Amino acid sequence: MNHAHSQSLFARAQARIPGGVNSPVRAFRGVGGDPVFFREGSGAWLTDVDGNRYVDLVGSWGPLILGHAYPPIVEAIIDAARRGSSFGAPHAGEVEFAEFICGTMPAVEMVRLVSSGTEATVAAIRVARGFTGREHILKFEGCFHGAGDPFLVKAGSGVETLGLPDSPGVPAALAKLTLTAPYNDLAAVERIFAEKGQDIACAIIEPVVGNMGVLVPKPGYLQGLQALCQKHGVLLVLDEVMTGFRLARGGAQEVYGLKPDLTTMAKVIGGGMPLGAYGGRADIMRKVAPAGPVYQSGTLSGNPVAVAAGLACLKALAAPGTYARLEQVSRMLEEGFIAEAKAAGVPVTVNRVGSMLTVFFTAEPVFDYTSAKTSDTGRFGRFFHAMLDAGVYLPPSQYEAAFVSLAIGEAEVAHVLGAARKAFRSLGQ
Ligand code: PLP
Repeated sequence: MNHAHSQSLFARAQARIPGGVNSPVRAFRGVGGDPVFFREGSGAWLTDVDGNRYVDLVGSWGPLILGHAYPPIVEAIIDAARRGSSFGAPHAGEVEFAEFICGTMPAVEMVRLVSSGTEATVAAIRVARGFTGREHILKFEGCFHGAGDPFLVKAGSGVETLGLPDSPGVPAALAKLTLTAPYNDLAAVERIFAEKGQDIACAIIEPVVGNMGVLVPKPGYLQGLQALCQKHGVLLVLDEVMTGFRLARGGAQEVYGLKPDLTTMAKVIGGGMPLGAYGGRADIMRKVAPAGPVYQSGTLSGNPVAVAAGLACLKALAAPGTYARLEQVSRMLEEGFIAEAKAAGVPVTVNRVGSMLTVFFTAEPVFDYTSAKTSDTGRFGRFFHAMLDAGVYLPPSQYEAAFVSLAIGEAEVAHVLGAARKAFRSLGQ
């Protein structure tokens, strides 16, 4: 595959953009080599600047559940932009959007729109602290909640891939307020709450983890966490930035029967445009300015073009059979990856929940940060590049989820699995 134009753009980019990218994991540091620059996306397919085509299993890291340039979303964006790209003042779309979210997720009684997942999680933490008057928070090892200071403490995702356990620039005094427990370990939460529960404002968790690769919650784990939070007056913040409207219309909270105090969302709800949200119990959300004293704001919050794209996306997802179809295609991919790895004699563990999937290069079960670390990341890197050469764009890190879109049909599944057959076999050579 020729990547001459990508390489030349990357050389220029590195001179003017730190690391040549506008978000770290795009830089291929987790797999080696140079990133590919894209020109176009259509349905399940991406075309790079050299004209190479790939089935996309990244989907812009989750938002593109309907595939690239989904016509009703494109129309909604054009239509909204024609009527003005931003008002900095209320508009009807925001009300419709808030009603739609609250009507779909019963635990979300009120919601505030922002422009990214990071904004949503940072705001949710502030609101939880403001509401409870407590300063500590609990997060889970390897879970990622965006680039906000309170979370860059043993965080996963890009930071993990870069081998930085923490980030310079995050004040030690602030980091101290973030406690960390292993994922899928209720006894650890019990211990922490017994010792410090009265100081902890909230526990924030990815219900299904996407940011160590996909980790599946053990049966009863999330419900047990919710019960422990209730017992200790700790608010449960469910970070559904990846899972919201992806695992089900009502997100992971619908799938696992949870009623979190606060929920954060982004990605799918914006239909590919910058849009995030946080919401939850009305008594908590009424603390948010100007209704209450906890300050949070944004010039482009509730942006009319992003809201129009998001509404078009969420309405399309409301069609009957959507999630059953996603499940069916995702299962075909899961079963195919397992079969091809087995045929090639490559030990893997495939974790999948709905349309989120990771092939871990380890024979061990992967259920927390420590077990995820048993993966052979060098092997993943070789697999990634073999797949890229065969026209499949996977997340360029072992510790990220692949996202399946509704644009992926049987032809694309066959293409991906044909590539996987070659890629797994090449690893043994
Ligand atoms: N929370 C989770 C679970 C995420 O996966 C991410 C991003 O990947 C974020 C928060 C941050 O979202 P954003 O990148 O939109 O700021």
